[in-house]
Amino acid sequence: MKNNRGFYQLLRLTIVLLLWIGGSLQAYAHEGEHDGSSETGKLPKLAKCRIVTADRLFDGFELHEGWGVLLKKEKVAQIGPMVELKRRCARKDLLGEATILPGFIESHAHITFQNVPKITVLRNGITTVQDTGGPLLPPSGGEGQLRLLSAGPILQAPGGYPLNVFGGEGGLDKIGYPVASAAEAENAVQQLSDGGAAAIKIALEPGGEPGAPWMMPHGENPVPAAPWAMLSQDIVNAIVVKAHALNKRVIVHAGEDTGFERALNAGIDEFAHMPCAAIRPELLQQAANTPGLIFVTTIDTLSSCVKDGMGVHSNTAQLAAKIAECETATPGQCAGLLYGSEIGHDNVPWGINGEEMHLMLHLTGGQSIDFADVLNVFKAVTSKAGEHLGDPLLGTLLPNAPADLIAVKGNPFERFKLLENPDLVISGGRVIVNHFEE
Ligand SMILES: [Zn+2]
Repeated sequence: MKNNRGFYQLLRLTIVLLLWIGGSLQAYAHEGEHDGSSETGKLPKLAKCRIVTADRLFDGFELHEGWGVLLKKEKVAQIGPMVELKRRCARKDLLGEATILPGFIESHAHITFQNVPKITVLRNGITTVQDTGGPLLPPSGGEGQLRLLSAGPILQAPGGYPLNVFGGEGGLDKIGYPVASAAEAENAVQQLSDGGAAAIKIALEPGGEPGAPWMMPHGENPVPAAPWAMLSQDIVNAIVVKAHALNKRVIVHAGEDTGFERALNAGIDEFAHMPCAAIRPELLQQAANTPGLIFVTTIDTLSSCVKDGMGVHSNTAQLAAKIAECETATPGQCAGLLYGSEIGHDNVPWGINGEEMHLMLHLTGGQSIDFADVLNVFKAVTSKAGEHLGDPLLGTLLPNAPADLIAVKGNPFERFKLLENPDLVISGGRVIVNHFEE
């Protein structure tokens, strides 16, 4: 009897404890639902419609005063002056002295390879990333989670970068994928494409640039002596032809003249960085005059790439000046710049990087910086980036665009830094952050 009573008491205690744990878990799950803080939990609710208005609205192209946006489920339905929108939906967020912008696009990240929490990136204003180098994943996200477009592993020469620095084996789920011939390279491009790669990335990196992040030790591995093995011109040409036949862009990591020239000769589509070492002016000229060629900036993370006052900053300034000249002579037939900060590196924020925008503005704005230069920086991280990724609505608030938007208190066109801690983040119509309700 005595033992039995003890048993029932223990049972009762256990049940109470289990109920309490269950309740706490539920409360925790509910919290995750409300503020989007759970990485794998249920997504925040999707409202049928929602109007968000503020003193300023940037639609990806222009800045409007006193405009708002009408969201219907996971899409943008309409933007315009508040009076035109106000009767279209009962649910209204009137933000007042604040600025609404499209969700930002990070064109150079290593989310998967560096295990960056996607929710951290999303909460800090980036709603889409191009994951350039790391395990291959099919496209995902956009419905309350970070939209991730993967390039998968970097095609590289056997023994070359990046595996020589990061160590380990190569493969589809690794940082590098070595190819020894044009046939092997074409086969790799096919596998990447079949696995859902948004673009194909290659490395043309012989090493040796002073101050480059890849010249610093990663973990246990000492940095191997330069020069490092590089893909030959024939192999790079074969990669570009194959990738273009499969409708994939080719992104290149190049840090100096040899790789830069090889990439240009092959007709690649995108430089993943401003090169680290000083590039010969005639090569920068050739690049500036290549229609549609894109340079992703990543200036902030490469700020140690300067030798005798030359390097990433001077490359950026010279290239921007040559692009401006080209645009004057032959509009629309020139290279362009996109924002990229290299999320995953430990010297940049894992969200919007105000310093990257600041460097872009001051290095590309020329002698007299005006509001058009500021707008260009904002376009490079929104509408221009979306168009380059193949979705002209991404990074905009045009009708039918995904309902990805952010808002900040104040005016980020005067203070980029405000963007690093957005007060409202909506991904695919779902509220991830809302400091306006606090
Ligand atoms: Zn990178």
